[in-house]
Amino acid sequence: MDFRDTPEDAAFRREVRDFLDAEQFQGFGRASGPAAAANEDRLRGGVDRYGVYRDWMKKLARKGWIAPAWPKEYGGAGMTVMQQFVFNEEMARARAPRPGGIGVGFAGPTIITYGTEEQKKEHLSLIVSGDAVWCQGFSEPGSGSDLASLQTRAVRDGDDYVINGQKIWTSGAQFAQRMILLARTDPDAPKHKGISYFLLDMKSPGVTVRPLVNMANSAAFNEVFFEDVRVPKKDLLGEENRGWYVAATTLDFERSSIGAAIAQQTQVEDLILFVREGAGDGVTVHPTVKLELAERSIEAETARLLSYRVITLQTKGMVPNHEASAAKLYSSELSQRVAATGMRLVGLYGLLGQDRKAEAESAAYRYAPRRGRLMRAYVNAVSSTIAGGTSEIQRNIIATRGLGLPRD
Ligand SMILES: Cc1cc2nc3c(=O)[nH]c(=O)nc-3n(C[C@H](O)[C@H](O)[C@H](O)COP(=O)(O)OP(=O)(O)OC[C@H]3O[C@@H](n4cnc5c(N)ncnc54)[C@H](O)[C@@H]3O)c2cc1C
Repeated sequence: MDFRDTPEDAAFRREVRDFLDAEQFQGFGRASGPAAAANEDRLRGGVDRYGVYRDWMKKLARKGWIAPAWPKEYGGAGMTVMQQFVFNEEMARARAPRPGGIGVGFAGPTIITYGTEEQKKEHLSLIVSGDAVWCQGFSEPGSGSDLASLQTRAVRDGDDYVINGQKIWTSGAQFAQRMILLARTDPDAPKHKGISYFLLDMKSPGVTVRPLVNMANSAAFNEVFFEDVRVPKKDLLGEENRGWYVAATTLDFERSSIGAAIAQQTQVEDLILFVREGAGDGVTVHPTVKLELAERSIEAETARLLSYRVITLQTKGMVPNHEASAAKLYSSELSQRVAATGMRLVGLYGLLGQDRKAEAESAAYRYAPRRGRLMRAYVNAVSSTIAGGTSEIQRNIIATRGLGLPRD
């Protein structure tokens, strides 16, 4: 197979690269080298990190690059899936913050697939302009892998549905303006056939968000409670009781996310650079770690090729299914191996500097290799094989839908 860019894709790659050069985003977030030092100075100078991110998103929005592959009428740039991939690759190479999140990644594409013209008009431009952040209200305390067993109820009352129940692990709910929400509208139907899919306004009375702190000491996800929350019928996506099939599309988009594989490649490249540059004060790199790095580098290339398979299907207008599961499974498990290699590389020094804010001023932080990033990557990678469906569930999908093996 020929993986070289077509002349059009190569021209687009050049355009993205030139833009990143002009914006001085090449090397942003790098572990070492002049760009890293400049970046670190900016952060130490008390730069408003969220402000920098917001301004950057506005610049991308002006180019139509928040959701490049969306149709132009909905605020995208009407690019091909391959150009979207080129864009992701160049952004990852430059370590530039990429637009993404649930709105761009899978709520928006699901609305494009199933929404009415009114729903598309109402929601898509707000996602693209960055004015609406979305969260995903699927998992419940008793329903994660077996999502179709969810118990949150939606009862029709005039022109509204009334929602009662609870969601959990809802990433970013504390910042979100909207939620893609699954609720049971027919408790007597078989479990997959009584679910509906809503586009909930998070400001609706009766919605309570309670943050949960994870082991990396950040409140990345939440519990969300619904008490007699009224959702207008216009916010039902797709048909009543057919929400499971809409949700399946969302999950396919979620698992198709191709950013992860590219991010791993940059992480491996950063580790290699780190070793080449001497690995920091007092750290001796054991020879076996070099062999591990060689292994990780081959695996990162494999992850990239698995994403190419996903993209090839998308280019043909298909929604990847078990292929997306294979890419998600491989790259999430790889992210843990890469993080573990990083920690082995620096030994006990890796334990320094986990909490950037608390330790930034301490003596220990000075000796923290890569300013504590290795530890943060290690702790954050733990959840990658759970979020978006666990590795066991991905293997089940590959076995049954991909290999045609029986369910039991
Ligand atoms: C960082 C993070 C962010 C998340 N963000 C969101 C979000 O924004 N929105 C949202 O809705 N959810 C979110 N989740 C929830 C996530 O989708 C669920 O945690 C996941 O689907 C697993 O469900 P569970 O936690 O209930 O575990 P369970 O389903 O209870 O699974 C427990 C264990 O049993 C195994 N298991 C279960 N069923 C099977 C089976 N049939 N075959 C083999 N093994 C099985 C699982 O693999 C797992 O190891 C997030 C999770 C994490 C970790």
